[in-house]
Amino acid sequence: MDYLPLFLRLTGEIALVVGGGRVAARKVEWLRRAGARVTVVAPELVAELEELCARGELRHRRERFAASQLEGVAVAVAATDESALNAAVSAAARTRRIPVNVVDSAELSTFIFPAIIDRSPVVVAVSSAGEAPVLARAVRQRIEALLPGRLGVLARFLGARRARVQSALPAAARRALWERLIGGRAAGEVLAGDEPAAEQSFARELDRARLGAAAPAAPGEVYLIGAGPGDPELLTLRALQLLQEADVILYDRLVPPAILERARRDAERIFVGKESGDPGLQQGIHELLVRLALAGKRVARLKGGDPFVFGRGGEEIEVLRAHGIPYRVVPGITAALGAAAAADIPLTHRRLAHSVTFVSGHAGAQDSLDWRALAQPRQTVVVYMGMSELPRIVARLRAAGAASDRPAAIVAQATLATQRVLRAPLAAIAALALRERIAPPALLIVGEVAAAPAVALAASDAELASIAVSGACA
Ligand code: SAH
Repeated sequence: MDYLPLFLRLTGEIALVVGGGRVAARKVEWLRRAGARVTVVAPELVAELEELCARGELRHRRERFAASQLEGVAVAVAATDESALNAAVSAAARTRRIPVNVVDSAELSTFIFPAIIDRSPVVVAVSSAGEAPVLARAVRQRIEALLPGRLGVLARFLGARRARVQSALPAAARRALWERLIGGRAAGEVLAGDEPAAEQSFARELDRARLGAAAPAAPGEVYLIGAGPGDPELLTLRALQLLQEADVILYDRLVPPAILERARRDAERIFVGKESGDPGLQQGIHELLVRLALAGKRVARLKGGDPFVFGRGGEEIEVLRAHGIPYRVVPGITAALGAAAAADIPLTHRRLAHSVTFVSGHAGAQDSLDWRALAQPRQTVVVYMGMSELPRIVARLRAAGAASDRPAAIVAQATLATQRVLRAPLAAIAALALRERIAPPALLIVGEVAAAPAVALAASDAELASIAVSGACA
């Protein structure tokens, strides 16, 4: 370890910043956030520092740097573009044993500014010891994505209850309670912005810790989570956060291992993969959800795409409601949206398609569809679960009036490394899929927008040219 990470208390202390440019302004911002009184030594200030100065929130010394300015200073920063001056500030500060940071020079610095995630009072600092600041920032971004926005609120919520816990429980029992609270319902409620509910959950957990088995158990909860089309990066931040909280994860065929890996390490994982339409299995999933939740577990029901798009999420929440089990629904990117983005197919387009319809191509669903409406031009139809019935679906569209050369595309395993996109006129798409041995899951997309981008957009060439011209003028 090249540097020891420490958190420095600067409230009310004087910080001297030499330099008045943009880089200096960024350092001033952090120093001020930590409550330091900042003095800037510089011939000139950038506008934002000027403004702070005008508001009396910053002291400006419009003079050259002199060692005497370090009198009474707790930390110093050199952020000028003159390396000799930066070196002089560093030397003067070090002689006086004042911690000093020289921007862009780890050698001249005795401390460095990390990449910071500020969810005060929770603060995360990442450093690459000055070797690769951009990498440190990338690491910060990744960690940031994992941390709930209201983490600081949670920290304050827990902090405000420390005294109550201390007086109610002996020291040995406290840690287990804090762990249960942090991983439990109360924390989830604070993060969701429901503090009154969180207070109730907190009180219940505290009772349970005090009274042991005599206290009523906390009820469980179900998170109905859309996992997106397959690429783990397309998970929502909330999906990721709840996957970190859940005790048990029920997942099906469409959820790839790379997504399951993002769940809490010690969570129990239960595969409930089902062949579509098997009523016994769905019934079994309902029973499992209810049993686990009533046993006090937080259950993540992880589904491919979005839970409410051909995902039977509607049936599952009916069952949960009937049993009085609390639940949350987290939307996911449905396969059609993932496939469209990955295959460059805009599902709607001002000239080519004014509506988009998602239909199930499942044999049982076909009779209830309005094929004449689906065969009309200037719209996009996305067929889920249609691969095994592909020839029949094409035949029904054609019989309802769709032209044989109406553009069509098949996107298989959208957003995964194995993704494939096939394009063909409607009359040829089924044979192409067969020849190419398309493996599920796959979607059929029918409509003007499904043609190769160059063809689909040919109609708009004139307009594109006019945009190029106006761009050139501007
Ligand atoms: N709830 C899911 C859909 C479940 S139905 C969602 O919102 O996406 C299952 C069908 O979704 C599959 O038959 C297939 O048509 C489609 N599908 C799911 N994931 C897919 C993927 N990665 N690529 C292409 N199609 C997919």
